[in-house]
Amino acid sequence: MKRLFLLLIGICCLACTSAAQQTKTLYLLHTSDTHSRIEPLDKLAADPDAGKGGTARRAAFIRQFRAEHPATLVLDCGDYSQGTPYYNFYHGELEVKMIKHIGYDAIAIGNHEFDFGMENLSRLVRLAGCPTVCANYEVSGTPLEGLVKPYTIIKRDGLRIGVFGLGPKLEGLVQTDKCEGVAFKDPIATAQKTVETLRGKEKCDIVVCLSHLGYQLLNPEDADDEKLVAQTQGIDVILGGHSHTNMDTPAFYRNAVGKEVPVFHVGRNGAYVGVWKLTLEED
Ligand SMILES: [Zn+2]
Repeated sequence: MKRLFLLLIGICCLACTSAAQQTKTLYLLHTSDTHSRIEPLDKLAADPDAGKGGTARRAAFIRQFRAEHPATLVLDCGDYSQGTPYYNFYHGELEVKMIKHIGYDAIAIGNHEFDFGMENLSRLVRLAGCPTVCANYEVSGTPLEGLVKPYTIIKRDGLRIGVFGLGPKLEGLVQTDKCEGVAFKDPIATAQKTVETLRGKEKCDIVVCLSHLGYQLLNPEDADDEKLVAQTQGIDVILGGHSHTNMDTPAFYRNAVGKEVPVFHVGRNGAYVGVWKLTLEED
């Protein structure tokens, strides 16, 4: 008997406005920290996810899901790099070619994307076939200039969806010479500014954050997803990575104006794909 190892681990309904006259449904699929796992995890590995994952399986699942639900976005929260010999040999090229093959709509930058340096990362960004977003790394004057954008706007079923990225402080995570010239900006202040642009000038109906900050970091000085929610307003959904947190369902936190915002992480190694169903009601 065939077993399905790639699981749907959560479905979240989000009603963005009240007074329903017209309802639209949008699906978000997301991964993070896939860490060069091109093949499934070894079935005999001492890992709770043994036997799960694999890019071929993920590609098949996403292709089928999209065929059934055309209003779907496929997103990744970073650290597709590092973890298997594929990365050591091909420096991320295979990983981003799979991202392109699967047809991701937008991806964030994780700290491990820098592991072979800036020129290599710029090559990966070019090959990925979708926007790489990070709002809080200033990349002017580096090989990433003009390639990494703070956000992207994706249109589905008449909706404008603003997707922006956030990355962690690189100091202590990435060798200095591997991220030379990248200026780190405060993720929370940058997120708020970006949201205002997306809600205002860009007239987005939904704002999605691809965060590689981590879920709950121990260092009180470091921004994480919990602090991001508490200190901002206007983000509808936070998809997270970096901390390898595996959740069955999203966690809800109150934002700066008391509105509940879901945060969802789907672990590591591509063992799971997060599935969201967002229901939007218009008046
Ligand atoms: Zn990371």
